[in-house]
Amino acid sequence: MTRLLFWIALVILVVMAVRSKLRAALERAQGQGAGAAPAGADATAWSRVEDKSEPMLCCARCGVYFPASEAVRSEGRDYCSPAHAQLETR
Ligand SMILES: [Zn+2]
Repeated sequence: MTRLLFWIALVILVVMAVRSKLRAALERAQGQGAGAAPAGADATAWSRVEDKSEPMLCCARCGVYFPASEAVRSEGRDYCSPAHAQLETR
C-alpha cells in the first residue's frame, strides 16, 4: 500500500513540474513573438535608437534643418553647405 502511495505522489510531482515548465516556456514565447510588449527587448531597442540620434541645426541662410555633424561653420553661424556659407559671408 505504501508503494502505491509513493508512486501516486511521484506522478503528481512530475505532472506539476512539467506544467510549470510548459507555462514558463509559453510566457517566454508570448513575450518574444508579439512585439507589442513595452518592456524588455523593445525598451532597449528604443534607447539604442535614441543614442544614435544627433542634434539638428538650422542653416543661417536657407533655414533648412540638418545634422550637426554636417554643419559648415562660418563667423559663428551654422550653414547646411559650403555654398551657403560663402553666399552669406560675401
Ligand atoms: Zn542652407
